[in-house]
Amino acid sequence: MKLSRIGKNLTAKSGILELMDDLGNALASGDKLMLGGGNPAIIPEVTEAWKKQLEITIGDNQALGKMLSIYDTPQGNEFFIEQMVELMNSHFSWNISKENIAITSGSQSAFFTLFNMFGGLDEQGSLNKILLPIAPEYIGYANQGMDDDIFHVHKPTIELLGDNYFKYHIDFDNLPLDANISAICLSRPTNPSGNVVTDEEIKKLHELAQERGIPLIIDNAYGTPFPCINFTEIKPYFGEGIISVMSLSKLGLPNARNGIIIADKDVIQKVRNANAIQHLSIGTIGQTIVAPLIKSNKLLDLCEQKIRPYYQSKKDFALKVLRENFDNKIDYRIHLNEGTMFFWLWFPSMKMDDKTLYQKLKGKGVIIVPGSYFFYALQEEWDHTSKCVRINYSYCEKAVIQGLEIIANTLLNEDE
Ligand code: PLP
Repeated sequence: MKLSRIGKNLTAKSGILELMDDLGNALASGDKLMLGGGNPAIIPEVTEAWKKQLEITIGDNQALGKMLSIYDTPQGNEFFIEQMVELMNSHFSWNISKENIAITSGSQSAFFTLFNMFGGLDEQGSLNKILLPIAPEYIGYANQGMDDDIFHVHKPTIELLGDNYFKYHIDFDNLPLDANISAICLSRPTNPSGNVVTDEEIKKLHELAQERGIPLIIDNAYGTPFPCINFTEIKPYFGEGIISVMSLSKLGLPNARNGIIIADKDVIQKVRNANAIQHLSIGTIGQTIVAPLIKSNKLLDLCEQKIRPYYQSKKDFALKVLRENFDNKIDYRIHLNEGTMFFWLWFPSMKMDDKTLYQKLKGKGVIIVPGSYFFYALQEEWDHTSKCVRINYSYCEKAVIQGLEIIANTLLNEDE
C-alpha cells in the first residue's frame, strides 16, 4: 500500500485505538471486570428523558422528517444553536450570538479541526505547536496532528495531600510559551486525572494566551453546564480568545456524536468551513432531542439532580472499596477527584511498569488503562509516567469490588 505521510499518521495504531478496542470487546463479551474505557453510564432517568423526546419527535411527521431527512447547514442545527446561545447568555452572561457557535461530529472531531487549524507547519515552514500545559492529558488528542510533533506537553508540579491524595498543578514558572506555540489546550475536569484546574490558573492561562494573541482551548467534556460531572464548584469560562468545547456524549449520548464549539466569530467561521469539507453537515438526532430540554431548562436539572449525583455516589462507593483494599497495604496515591468518572492512581514504589500491570490484570479479566498513554509528547523523561493507571469506577459495582481486590493482590504479589 502506498500511503501518503498524512495517510500514515491518520491510520497509525494509537493508544486511543487500543482503549476503544478494549472497551468495545469487554463490553461485548460481558465476561470482563471493566474498569477501563470512558463510556458514560446508562442512567435510567436520563435514558427516559431521551426516550420521551424521541417519542415526541417520532409522533410529529414534520419534526421527524426534519431530523432524519434534511441536511443542516455546516454550522449545525439552527434551533439547537439558538438554545445554546440563550443558555449561556441567560445563565452565565456570556454575551454570545449564533455566530459564536458551531456544532461538530463529536468533540473528538472538534479537536481534530482545531489542532490541525492551529498546529503543524505554517506557510513559512515553521512548526506551530499546541501547548498542553498540564500532563497527564486526554489520550484522544495524542494522534490527531496531521503533521508530526504538533504537541508540546508540559510536566506538572505535584502537591502531596493528606489521606493518600495528591493534585497536579500547572508549572507556570517553566511553561514554554515560545513563539512557536500557537494555541494552549487543556481538559477541565481533566481526563484522566479528575483534576479541576483552578479558576485562578485558568485566568492566568487566558492572560498568557491573550498576551501572545493565541487561543486557549478549554475541553469541557465533563464540566458545566452539562454534563456536570464535576464535584467542586466551577463556572464555565469564556472571553475573547477562549475556545470552549463541549459535548453531548457524557450526558449519555455518545452515539449522537455531537460536539459544540463556542468561540470568537472568526474561529467559528473556519470551523464551519472545515465541517463542510469533512462532514458536509452534522448529525441532527442528538441536537434534536437535547434542544427542547435546554429550552425548558430541564437539561440543567437533569444534570444537577441525576447525572452528577449518580457519578458522585459511584465515586463514593468506589473510594470506600479502594480504601478497604489498599490502605496500609499498598504504597499508593490517588489524585483528588474533582470531576470525571475516573480514579487516577499512582503507585510510587511499583517495580513493574504500568503496561506490565495492565497485561497482568487483563490476564486476570480486569481491564484498566495504563497511565503512560496520557503522558504522550512529554519533553523529558519522568519515571512517574509509568507508575500510574486510570480506573473508570462508574460501570458496575461488582467490577469495582472484584477488580480493585484483584489490583491490590497483583500489586502485593508483584514478583509472581
Ligand atoms: N474530551 C475528553 C476529555 C474526553 O474524555 C472525550 C471522550 O471521552 C472527548 C473529548 C471526546 O468525546 P466525544 O467525541 O464523544 O464528544
